[in-house]
Amino acid sequence: MADFVGAVDQGTTSTRFMIFDHGGNEIARHQLEHEQILPQAGWVEHNPVEIWERTRAVAETTLGKANLSAADLVALGITNQRETTVVWNRRTGRPYYNAIVWQDTRTDRIASALEREGKGEVIRAKAGLPPATYFSGGKIQWILENVDGVRADAEAGEAVFGNTDTWLLWNLTGGTDGGVHVTDPTNASRTMLMNLETLDWDDELLSFFGIPRAMLPEIRPSSNPELYGVTRATGPLRGEVPLSGDLGDQQAATVGQVCFGVGEAKNTYGTGNFLLLNTGNELVRSQHGLLTTVCYQFGQEKPVYALEGSIAVTGSAVQWLRDQLGIISGAAQSEQLARQVQDNGGVYFVPAFSGLFAPYWRSDARGAIVGLSRYNTNAHIARATLEAICYQSRDVVEAMENDSGVRLDVLRVDGGVTANELCMQIQADVLGVPVSKPVVAETTALGAAYAAGLALGFWGSTEELKRNWNEDRRWQPTWTEDQREKGYAGWKKAVQRTLDWVD
Ligand code: ADP
Repeated sequence: MADFVGAVDQGTTSTRFMIFDHGGNEIARHQLEHEQILPQAGWVEHNPVEIWERTRAVAETTLGKANLSAADLVALGITNQRETTVVWNRRTGRPYYNAIVWQDTRTDRIASALEREGKGEVIRAKAGLPPATYFSGGKIQWILENVDGVRADAEAGEAVFGNTDTWLLWNLTGGTDGGVHVTDPTNASRTMLMNLETLDWDDELLSFFGIPRAMLPEIRPSSNPELYGVTRATGPLRGEVPLSGDLGDQQAATVGQVCFGVGEAKNTYGTGNFLLLNTGNELVRSQHGLLTTVCYQFGQEKPVYALEGSIAVTGSAVQWLRDQLGIISGAAQSEQLARQVQDNGGVYFVPAFSGLFAPYWRSDARGAIVGLSRYNTNAHIARATLEAICYQSRDVVEAMENDSGVRLDVLRVDGGVTANELCMQIQADVLGVPVSKPVVAETTALGAAYAAGLALGFWGSTEELKRNWNEDRRWQPTWTEDQREKGYAGWKKAVQRTLDWVD
C-alpha cells in the first residue's frame, strides 16, 4: 500500500516536486529555477521546454532523496503559475513561442480595446475578471496574431493552448504519444474565456479574442476521481502514478491552508501577493476591484468560489533591490537592512512595475519612490519595500471587507516572504489584526497533494485535512490606531502619484 502523495509545483521562478505523508508532513523536496526571459520592457517569457526538463529533474531527484519509487505514491497533484500561456503543436510537441508569463504587459492594447468596445462588461459578468494583460485570453490572441502559422494550425486542432498545468499533464501522460489535453476550473477561470456559472468555455468570450475552441483543453474537476490520466512508465517517475489533482497555485494554497469554510482567507507572499477569500457556492461579484474566481471543484460537488485580490509585485520588489539596485545580496538581507531604521523616514515605494493590479487595475501605472530627503538611506528603501508588500495587502483586505462584509479576525499567511519576520510584524501593524503562519508553509504544493489524495480516498474528507493544520508562528499588532492611519494615508498619497504619472 502506497503511503505518500506527490505534488509538482510549477511556479513563476522555479519548479519543485514535493512528497507528503498522510499527516500532511513534508517527506522530501527538490526545486530548480528556470530562466526569466525579458526580451524588452514589460515582456516576460519562460521556455516551456526548460520548464518540462526542470519538472523531470526535480521529480527524479525528490524520489531519489526520499528513497521512494512511483509505487510508493498514491497519486500526483499538479499546481502551477496561473495565466502563463503556452501554445504548442500536439503532433510535434514543440511550442510555437515561449510561454508568455502572467506579469507580461505586451497585451495592454488588446485589454484596452476590449474596454473601449464595451466588451469589458461582458467579460466581468461572465468570467468575473476585468479585461487586463494579466489573463491568458489576450496572450493567446497575441500568439495567434504574431507567430506565423499558428492560426491555421489552431483551426485544424493541431496548435493547442494550455497553462503550465496543462503543458505538464500532457507531457507526463505521454506527450505526442497520447498525452491528455486537460485543465481544471481554477486555471480555466483565469483565461477570460470560461463562464463561471457553467464552468465551460464560452463562445461569445472566445469570439472576443478570435480563439478557436479546438485549441482549448477539456475542463475537469480540480480533484478528479476519474483521473486526468496516469504518468507514463517511461517518464520521470518511472512508473504509473494516477494524476488526480490540478489547481492553480493560489487556489492550491487556499486548499493547503484548509480554508474550506465560507469567510476563510489566506494571503500568499511570493513573487506577487494573492489573497483569496472562500465565498462558498455563491458567486460574489466585486464592486471594489477584486476578481471572482473558482476556488476549487472537488469531484462532482458544486464548485466553490472565491474573491481574490491579486498584487503583481511584492517579493519581486525584494529581488529588484538585489538585482537592479544591488543594495542587498540576498532576499533575507532585506530584513537586516530594514531593521537598521525604526520607520520608513517618510519614504514610500510603490513597485508598480507591471502596472497596478487589485484593486486599481491600471496596467499603465509605473513605479515610484516618493518622500525622499537627504537624511534617507538604503535602509529606508528596504523598509519601504517591506511596507509596500504590507500596504498593498491592506488595500486588498479593505476591498475584500467592503465586498463581502467579512471582517478578518486573523490573516493566514504563507509563501517565501513570510520568512521575513519584520515584514510579517509590519503586516500585523498595518492591518491591525494578527498574522498567523502554519507549520507546513509549502501550502501550494500541499494543496495540490490534498486535491490529488482526496480524489482517491487517501484522505476521507476536508474535515480530516483541517486536523493537519497547525500554527507555527503568530504576530500581534503593536501600532496605535493613529500610527496605522497616518501610515496608510501616506501610502494612498504615494499610490496616487504612480497613477498621476501616466495621466
Ligand atoms: P514563487 O512561488 O512566486 O516563485 P516563493 O514563495 O518561492 O515565490 O517566494 C519567493 C519570493 O520571496 C522572492 O520574490 C523573494 O524575493 C522573496 N523572499 C524570499 N525570502 C525572503 C525574505 N527573507 N525577505 C523578503 N523576501 C523574501
